[in-house]
Amino acid sequence: HLKGKTALVTGSTSGIGLAIAIGLAKQGANMMVNGFGEKDAAIAAIKACGVEVEYHGADMSKPAEIQDMIEQTEKRFGALDILVNNAGIQYTANVEDFPADKWESIIAINLSSAFYTSHHALPGMKKRNWGRIINIASVHGLVGSTQKSAYVAAKHGIVGLTKVTALENAKTGITCNAICPGWVLTPLVQKQVDARAEREGISNEAAKKALVSEKQPSGEFVAPEQLAALAVFLCGPDASEVRGVAWNMDGGWTAQ
Ligand code: NAD
Repeated sequence: HLKGKTALVTGSTSGIGLAIAIGLAKQGANMMVNGFGEKDAAIAAIKACGVEVEYHGADMSKPAEIQDMIEQTEKRFGALDILVNNAGIQYTANVEDFPADKWESIIAINLSSAFYTSHHALPGMKKRNWGRIINIASVHGLVGSTQKSAYVAAKHGIVGLTKVTALENAKTGITCNAICPGWVLTPLVQKQVDARAEREGISNEAAKKALVSEKQPSGEFVAPEQLAALAVFLCGPDASEVRGVAWNMDGGWTAQ
């Protein structure tokens, strides 16, 4: 149902972003890919869905590069209809040990980038009176965990940005919503699995189980494809009155 639309998914060279890009492309959306991962493989996988694909290497911590990416997307495809703010990084340490440069880059990449992309994409969406902005937040946009001060602050912030963007456009065909995943086994989380296996002297499998079951009552990871299906729904006509929600898919994490 997205044939003729153009989507930009930030951080779509791996993990959740790549799965969402493939999900939207399967519905016919042309795609601007972004991110620092294995871009050739990502582009090939999205192209295989039969849509047009371009790549922009903007660094989400650099506002001028973000502006150029939005402009290039509109120039190449004629419009930017669906914006998925997904790029994100993680760093763990207690507040008193948290390096200032890590704090600054997590706030820039996980929060401020979504302001800059939205800031530049909204005028075009308003002109066409149609748009979908999906912010990939996290359960950490709703609840806290130790050692993740910058991440939790950024994700709570992006839930706030989501509400305001939704309200400002409530009388238009533009919706803005956040998706709040629990644990998803992507490179971002594999690093935390590896750290735990090392720290506790346990196997990769045991570390995965320990990590998930500590927070997620289901004991199972959320699959990137399940998040992609939610993003596809939020882009569809049946979701036109879903506005400003923070929608968790978290195996029961935040029900506790
Ligand atoms: P990932 O590491 O697999 O993917 C992150 C993507 O962002 C990659 O494409 C990477 O190249 C890109 N990226 C990183 N820094 C960038 C920068 N400065 N500029 C441009 N691109 C950059 O991680 P993921 O788990 O797929 O995470 C995607 C999003 O989902 C993040 O916002 C993350 O916070 C969120 N999330 C992940 C989980 C999880 O359990 N994996 C849970 C909740 C939320």
